Amino acid sequence: MNRADEISKNLTQVKQRIADAAKKSHRSIDEITLIVVTKTFPLSDLEILYSLGVREFGENRDQEAAIKVVQLPTDINWHFQGGIQSNKLKSITAWASCIHSVDQFKYAKIISENSAGKSKSIFIQVSLDQPPESRGGVDPQKLINMAKQIDQLPNISIMGLMAVAPVAGDQRGAFVRLQGINNDFKASFRTAKSLSAGMSGDYEMALEYGATHLRIGSSILGNRAQIT
Ligand SMILES: *Cc1c(COP(=O)(O)O)cnc(C)c1O
Repeated sequence: MNRADEISKNLTQVKQRIADAAKKSHRSIDEITLIVVTKTFPLSDLEILYSLGVREFGENRDQEAAIKVVQLPTDINWHFQGGIQSNKLKSITAWASCIHSVDQFKYAKIISENSAGKSKSIFIQVSLDQPPESRGGVDPQKLINMAKQIDQLPNISIMGLMAVAPVAGDQRGAFVRLQGINNDFKASFRTAKSLSAGMSGDYEMALEYGATHLRIGSSILGNRAQIT
């Protein structure tokens, strides 16, 4: 099978599984955004995805993404979900329409300062790890205070929370916790209606617990040479 057929088949399968899982959870498919995570994959794969109608792309590295962005059409929404470094954030803010991995106030401040005149969509990454914050994300205990501070900044629109479920152990337990944290969060921030959660290994479960933005890479593009 050629690469285009392979990607097309995988994409169709993933979309079908999303539709089935949404139906099971009595969720409308219209409130769910599929972001295809293209990190480490070549431009030719992104061109195939584009020709298949994909307009939401996710990247983890500034340098890699910035090169891809200029070579593809401008009607793409680029999402950044990688670990943030302050010195890269100005560049990321320039190409990303949405930044999913904000876990410190100082990052939100840099995004705000570089988004003059046009509000930038962000998610605040919450840690589900024990102990908290071991793989990025803010400790749930500190979340509301940090979000209140961020909410005061100009040119920032808090979409909601983002989380990465633990790779091993009690995944369902982690999503149950996330749902609780998310419900409390939405009660404090009424405009934050979204939840960025769910990857190739757990997106159907994430949907059960309220995810609106699914970040899916390997189920559509295959295994990555290196994990970033
Ligand atoms: C790489 C990555 C994904 C996609 O992971 P897959 O398992 O390939 O679907 C999603 N979210 C984040 C934060 C990632 O780094």
